[in-house]
Amino acid sequence: MTVIKTAEILCVGTEILIGDIVNTNAAFISSRLSALGISQYYQGVIGDNSSRLSLCIKKALRRCDLVILTGGLGPTYDDLTKETAAKIANVKTFLHEPSLERIKAFFRSAGSVMTDNNIKQAMIPEGATVFPNDHGTAPGIALEIPAGIIGAADDEPLYNGASSDTKTLILLPGPPREMKPMFINYAEPYLSARSGGFMISKNAEIFGIGESAAESLLADKMKASLNPTIAPYCGEGDMRIRITARADSPEDALKLCGEAINELRKSPVGKYIYGVDTTLAEAVVHEAAASGIKLTTAESCTGGLTAGAITAVPGSSEVFDGGAVTYSNEIKNKLLGVRKETLKRFGAVSPQTAREMACGAIKLTDADISMSLTGIAGPGGGTKEKPMGLVYIAVASRRGSANSGKFPLMLHSSAQLCGEFKEENGICGSIIKCNFIGSRDHVRALAVKSALAALLSAVRNSKL
Ligand code: ATP
Repeated sequence: MTVIKTAEILCVGTEILIGDIVNTNAAFISSRLSALGISQYYQGVIGDNSSRLSLCIKKALRRCDLVILTGGLGPTYDDLTKETAAKIANVKTFLHEPSLERIKAFFRSAGSVMTDNNIKQAMIPEGATVFPNDHGTAPGIALEIPAGIIGAADDEPLYNGASSDTKTLILLPGPPREMKPMFINYAEPYLSARSGGFMISKNAEIFGIGESAAESLLADKMKASLNPTIAPYCGEGDMRIRITARADSPEDALKLCGEAINELRKSPVGKYIYGVDTTLAEAVVHEAAASGIKLTTAESCTGGLTAGAITAVPGSSEVFDGGAVTYSNEIKNKLLGVRKETLKRFGAVSPQTAREMACGAIKLTDADISMSLTGIAGPGGGTKEKPMGLVYIAVASRRGSANSGKFPLMLHSSAQLCGEFKEENGICGSIIKCNFIGSRDHVRALAVKSALAALLSAVRNSKL
């Protein structure tokens, strides 16, 4: 049985080499390989040239068990990957009828006719496993090659660990929208079965603590963790701790992950975990939907990015009828009823304005919970009193407490609670003051994450 412990990724395409496109395929595949427990020591990019490609594939095959190639599976003359792979494996290609049928069906469903050069995409090296392409035409391929064919180079040791004497080539299409689902649905099960057991990863999603702080709190756990392994990954304003377990069955691996997550929840990092394998926006939408809560947003400096994050979640229409983007004072007043006096006296970036925006948004949309956001994203517009990166976020709820309750308000490490309020009509809320540091894009990204975290806290407290 082939055992795969080490891999190398080679991405084919002159446009990657010259910087026309960013090599996102390698980043994606790398992260999936580490979750599978397959190690990498090298990565490469090669232009559309058969002899250089052949050299690189052979070199890579000499030093690891698996070489994954992306790109160059298209129908044109410069798409050379499959032919080059077949030559290296010393096998012929044949017309794979099921692939040809799929390609024809793909064109039919797109309302066009297949041209003859697409037949090339259905040519498969003998002995290969075919990965169907559910989002395009070129099928993927896994091809096992006896190590003896490749031989060992004089100048390089075999970087082979304890693996078998069979090498594996996996060929995937270049377009990420085709490659990613093919990798997840077909390549991963193929690799799982050959990487010595089953590997499952779960992500504990964290908000409110930075990567280095989390790492220092978890240092002992991480050092001691062999199975499952525990590793932190930094996001923009949030982070995740990835737990990866290996076992003889998926169920056992899942059990190991579950136990590790329970341990994490009991650790000092536990209070920052808001979910597992989710995002802030997904958690907000799913939890609001489960409690029949309607949400709304009123945004100034983020220009609708929070509403964008919410509506990017499938099913968000159940909880979100709409929100407001109120950039100018005039629109804040006209749309949300923020008083001119408030704007004049305290300014657009103030807790008072944030509060009136949040309450105005509830009135405007009849939602249960609202979030408002006003700040100075920069690079201009800051003053000594109100520097760039100052952002006020208010959450308001018609369902009782929006902030305090069983579930503590989740705050970014650069944020603090700066006020709570109760309106005459019973709407309760809280205001968060954030002092973010960084570029305009970074400040806006942190503001959106903080806004979503505040909404999540409000949703959780409102359903209690
Ligand atoms: P096609 O059938 O579309 O020709 P292909 O498998 O031959 O697919 P390429 O022609 O190499 O793939 O690449 C097609 C497109 O996929 C590129 O123009 C680029 O947009 C994207 N792409 C290719 N490789 C990568 C990569 N490594 N990272 C990100 N995007 C990529």
